[in-house]
Amino acid sequence: MTRLHFASALLPSGWANDVQVVITAGAIAEVTPGVAPVAGDERHQVALPGLASLHSHAFQRGMAGLAELRGDSTDTFWTWRETMYRFALAMTPDDVAAVAALLYVEMLERGFTRVGEFHYLHHDCDGSPYADPAEMAARIAQAAEASGIALTLLPTFYAHGSFGGAAPHAGQRRFICSVDQFAALMTASRKAISALPGANVGIAPHSLRAVMPEELAAIIPLAEGGPVHIHAAEQVKEVEDCLAWSSRRPVQWLLEHAPVDQRWCLIHATHTTDEEVAAFARTGAVAGLCPITEASLGDGIFPAREFLAAGGEFGVGTDSNVLVGVADELRQLEYGQRQKHRERNVLSSGAGRSTGRTLFDHALAGGAQALAQSTVGLTLGARADIVTLDTAHPSLAGRRGDAAIDGWIFAAGSGAIDCVWAGGDKVVEGGRHRLRQSSRECFNASVRRLVA
Ligand SMILES: [Zn+2]
Repeated sequence: MTRLHFASALLPSGWANDVQVVITAGAIAEVTPGVAPVAGDERHQVALPGLASLHSHAFQRGMAGLAELRGDSTDTFWTWRETMYRFALAMTPDDVAAVAALLYVEMLERGFTRVGEFHYLHHDCDGSPYADPAEMAARIAQAAEASGIALTLLPTFYAHGSFGGAAPHAGQRRFICSVDQFAALMTASRKAISALPGANVGIAPHSLRAVMPEELAAIIPLAEGGPVHIHAAEQVKEVEDCLAWSSRRPVQWLLEHAPVDQRWCLIHATHTTDEEVAAFARTGAVAGLCPITEASLGDGIFPAREFLAAGGEFGVGTDSNVLVGVADELRQLEYGQRQKHRERNVLSSGAGRSTGRTLFDHALAGGAQALAQSTVGLTLGARADIVTLDTAHPSLAGRRGDAAIDGWIFAAGSGAIDCVWAGGDKVVEGGRHRLRQSSRECFNASVRRLVA
């Protein structure tokens, strides 16, 4: 049993002072506001729930910053993808474990306590299946276990190179499965995470580019009621190709042909019309926004103001992991809207309401929904995923309540995080994960070899 005492804490009911939290077996067993600390309480100042990064491709952390050279022609998502494929084709299972372990350590240091791993690097370098179809998934699980982050594993079904069932190209050989292979992968993936505390499984049909309608219908039951995540409408070219294939836009096609509901998460959904936004919000599905990656790749800006006005819910993901942090994603999301609308505090829930708090509340609720977590936050029965802020940070000086969240997101960034508990285990102290040094050494050894 662990007893923590916070001078203030963000509970589901709002901010409370003098909050004692009791943790047993990794979960929150008691939350008592308005009590003085007693002997044996570990005392901290400001506590918040950890958030989910609902969309990650862990292996891409290895190439962060390596695709910032201009190519011969206009540099777009599609040229970035060529760099990504070259990197993906060279990684061994040990490389994936090393890269994912550092990434998850960084996520925890920066406020993420659960990751939705949209995992598509399945096969050996030449494209042949490993003896264990979940060889790579097991490495992801191993990295999650070492770091302490909670894992929602989303094995990806990827079968084609473009719309209409086009053959995949050689650079995609490590991703490609038949429906039968994918069913075997799902079984093996469930086994790979079975001993991991707090882990669960969903499915990730990669995109309408990579999955035919009949395949989509065949794999959805393999989620067994768990989450279904799909990339949709990230790129203008993708929308044009989808229109040429089906005379429907990607989000429109999904809403008309797939059973999109609260279990679903549409990743990006960047290029959506007003009609699509309204219909998407009505389904109750989550928008999985990845603002840093969408900016990095030049994707465009999601119509977040319109989606929220329509009652939609979003969460955030770190996607390419080029830069990782709760504050960074939420700030970029808001700043994209400010630049688009030429206004300030665009996503705040109303007059006098903190923008940072609004963003935080959505990311908590949307991330939990998208990764099938029915109970999150500083509340009874939730996994004890807790983040404390360093009130000595200059950008938090004198701030209380929502002003501390704004100071963290808009001014301090990840440097304001003090301690993080993941499943009740204090893995980050003074802003440093206990495996920071060792995970950096393993990561660096792998990446030095990969970039050589
Ligand atoms: Zn993605």
